[in-house]
Amino acid sequence: MKKINSDKFVMAMSRENKPVLSVKSGESVTFITQDALGGQVKSADTKVDVLDWNAVNPATGPLYIEDAMPGDLLKIEILKIKVADSSCMITGKGIGVCADFFDKILARVMPIENGCVIFSDKIKIPLAPMIGVIGVAPESGSINNGTPGEHGGNMDCKEVSQGAVLYLKVFVEGALLSLGDLHGVMGDGEVSGCGAELPGEVTVKVSVLKDKTLPTPFISNEQFFMTIASEESISHAIDSATLLGVDFLMNEANMTREEAISFISLVCDVRVCQIVDPLKTARLEIPKKLLDAYKIIV
Ligand code: CA
Ligand code: CA
Repeated sequence: MKKINSDKFVMAMSRENKPVLSVKSGESVTFITQDALGGQVKSADTKVDVLDWNAVNPATGPLYIEDAMPGDLLKIEILKIKVADSSCMITGKGIGVCADFFDKILARVMPIENGCVIFSDKIKIPLAPMIGVIGVAPESGSINNGTPGEHGGNMDCKEVSQGAVLYLKVFVEGALLSLGDLHGVMGDGEVSGCGAELPGEVTVKVSVLKDKTLPTPFISNEQFFMTIASEESISHAIDSATLLGVDFLMNEANMTREEAISFISLVCDVRVCQIVDPLKTARLEIPKKLLDAYKIIV
């Protein structure tokens, strides 16, 4: 198995980043990732007020996928996520929903034991590993790993998890895929600004699709098709994710606009991914089972 070590990372997604590994379409690769805080929080006593914020959100990569050209679709099958045995988080002044309730930043370290994040002696949270940052190089410029967008990035969508398939549009030759910011568990919203941040290993199979378009970023898992959008406000992100869902149903199921929006209103759930990053992210969950008659293949 080809592998990219965690010392090969980028802090922003850009066409200027030099690829660290090249693979053919259809190959699998393991990305070894640092935690999103760059390993700076070792204990609850870590002086987090002096964190190096420039070291936050490293993403391992970028991976060059041969044959990937602008306009293609990159299919990323998340085959396996393996996480470390300790996680951490920070919250406090200036961060997340309770930003104003603290006068400093506080750290928390949580061991992983028997498949659970040990929050306290009374609360053990079952692991639900996910990838916070995963994206390709945008068409132009450089997008910091802290920011989500059409290229993916810091979507903090908990459905980017083992067994799911993520689709991203290719903007530059080779796509330049990078990923990091694994969470052992995270609630929709990520309201304190952190999940259970930890290092780990992610194995993905990457394939280039030439004649397929989807409203990206797009996820398919056992139960749902999901459209994802990031905007200045969560309300706009919800609207955009919904409109992408309308596009998807009109294109793939031949629905009229009225049928698509009515179907969404009846059975699709709008979910919040995160509300703490520079752009906020929402997703629309479209139940696959009800669309069986259309035999949609993605
Ligand atoms: Ca994140
Ligand atoms: Ca994170």
